[in-house]
Amino acid sequence: MTATVKTRIRKDDEVIIIAGRDKGARGKVIRVLPQDSSVLVAKVNMIKRHTRQTENSAGGIIDKEAPLAISNVQYFCAKCKAGVRLAVKTLEDGRKVRTCCKCGEVLDR
Ligand SMILES: [Zn+2]
Repeated sequence: MTATVKTRIRKDDEVIIIAGRDKGARGKVIRVLPQDSSVLVAKVNMIKRHTRQTENSAGGIIDKEAPLAISNVQYFCAKCKAGVRLAVKTLEDGRKVRTCCKCGEVLDR
């Protein structure tokens, strides 16, 4: 059994890539893959994939997102304009929200 990495990044978050080929790129998380400790980020880490012709598609080469290691991405805080770590805060009504470690901005509504 592989260890799953604890991450606070979720689908639809904006993240910045902090290491690797696409370092500095930003994009929206389209999928979190906890078992693989990786995320899929829209339009980042694109790979070309050859597909075979089927009834529904003409086949050919399509661009597709390849998973990025979670450790190589950080949440992009719109206020800090930088990649930040996330903290979790419990509100008075018991709701848990994510906040920016740097500016304290509440990121979940
Ligand atoms: Zn911030």
